Amino acid sequence: MKNNITIIGTGIGGLTAGALLTKKGFKVSIFEKESIIGGRALTFDTSKLTLDSYLKTLSNFNMNVPFSEPDLKTIFEKKMLKGYKLDLGYHAIGGGVLSNANSVLAELNNHVDILESNVGLIKENGYVFPFLSRIDKLKILPNILRLLFASEKTLKKLDSISITDTINKYGRGQMTLILEIFSRSITTINNLNLISTGEMFRSQRNLYRGSKPVGYPKNGLKNITEKLANYIQQNGGTIYLNKKVKKIIIENKKTKGVIIDNKKYLSDIVISNTLVQDLFKIADEKHFPIDYVKNIKSLKGTGSLCAYYSLNYLDPKLIGKTFHFIERNIGIDGNDTVGMIDFMAASPDSRISPANKFIVQSYIICNPDEARNIDILKKLKYLLDKKIEIMIPNYKKNLNWVIYPAIWHLDGVAKTIENEKPDIKTPIKNLFIIGDSVKATGIGFNCALNSARLLVEHI
Ligand SMILES: Cc1cc2nc3c(=O)[nH]c(=O)nc-3n(C[C@H](O)[C@H](O)[C@H](O)COP(=O)(O)OP(=O)(O)OC[C@H]3O[C@@H](n4cnc5c(N)ncnc54)[C@H](O)[C@@H]3O)c2cc1C
Repeated sequence: MKNNITIIGTGIGGLTAGALLTKKGFKVSIFEKESIIGGRALTFDTSKLTLDSYLKTLSNFNMNVPFSEPDLKTIFEKKMLKGYKLDLGYHAIGGGVLSNANSVLAELNNHVDILESNVGLIKENGYVFPFLSRIDKLKILPNILRLLFASEKTLKKLDSISITDTINKYGRGQMTLILEIFSRSITTINNLNLISTGEMFRSQRNLYRGSKPVGYPKNGLKNITEKLANYIQQNGGTIYLNKKVKKIIIENKKTKGVIIDNKKYLSDIVISNTLVQDLFKIADEKHFPIDYVKNIKSLKGTGSLCAYYSLNYLDPKLIGKTFHFIERNIGIDGNDTVGMIDFMAASPDSRISPANKFIVQSYIICNPDEARNIDILKKLKYLLDKKIEIMIPNYKKNLNWVIYPAIWHLDGVAKTIENEKPDIKTPIKNLFIIGDSVKATGIGFNCALNSARLLVEHI
């Protein structure tokens, strides 16, 4: 008989670990404090959603909605979200059809259909698609390839080199633009002094695995999380919703299980999928080495302002494509900011909006403090609207509604030179941590998923 395993949280990390461990024959129980699975990769069922539960869930995930049109009360009273599937905030899955998510689902004899796209660039008065012309590619390819396919030994050396230094060394013409934009969009950090060149290229390599760089799952993110959850439940595992773990039981430097509603649930192994900074809300820090606690508490995430525009009409030329933009000298951390306007989810094939309505997803990067500063958010909103106007002149004529969620904990831990992400193993025996806060390949969604794969190999 294999060990009993408790997993705290149904984020993409928790569900991936749950499914792969179930496949290996472990008895898995997953406890989730929310009433919906998916964590930060959840998709709302808007037919059942109330304004209160929407705001409460956003707040539980370090988010709010500083702006909308019309106001949220009217949007909910008039049931304007009926028929939409709304993720918590803008998501593009790195790696398209051949993404890490489909590698995991393939192990479970499953698959998710993913819409995928190359990336274009929004300019002052129009756009180009794709980002690089053939001539540009020929010019910069040798340098990009050298970095993209550098050995792990070389990447390790580049781990402590900032993108600012790399631009000083390699940056000429389009190469500078690529380094400025892609390093920001991959890491969700505007400040190039903080971004590690080694990490950036590791993550970028993970995106270009023979497929397009970005993708969006048909039916929303829940199409991935539900497939994982179904596998767990159909193969002997259990997922408990509305069950908040209050404490991880630790005795003699070893975990014994968890406490929920004053009841003990004993198990051989406990895996925490919570934000790593929240670990000591449920695990007594006195059991951990002081330096470990200090490092974890010091780790910072990333932030953004997103916008979902629902339109009655969209130029068919745009549907299915994704675009980056860069806006310079706006006086925030990093001085310039990067964002994306995404028409992949606007494709009717995404099935996330009612017939003849088109969802345009977008986001603009800021740091977590800026994501809580209303004056900065106003500036970022203005920029998002300005970019949409370039792509779709007079877009307001066709606007049904627009919601702008702000998030100050997008990535659990930002992949910067300063942040030392912790390992899946903790100093406590049989207690592991997974999710986008820990050391694994990729950023965000992919990091969370890959941390679970690492863990499963380890167990
Ligand atoms: C608005 C937004 C946009 C994003 N855009 C992108 C993107 O474009 N591309 C990308 O790759 N990534 C993106 N991300 C990041 C991506 O969503 C996350 O990296 C990923 O979903 C994190 O998964 P995770 O497994 O680390 O855990 P989480 O999603 O954090 O899940 C943890 C789970 O644990 C539960 N939990 C916490 N404490 C307890 C407790 N005490 N008891 C029980 N359950 C508990 C939580 O409720 C949650 O369900 C975005 C995130 C947000 C919020």
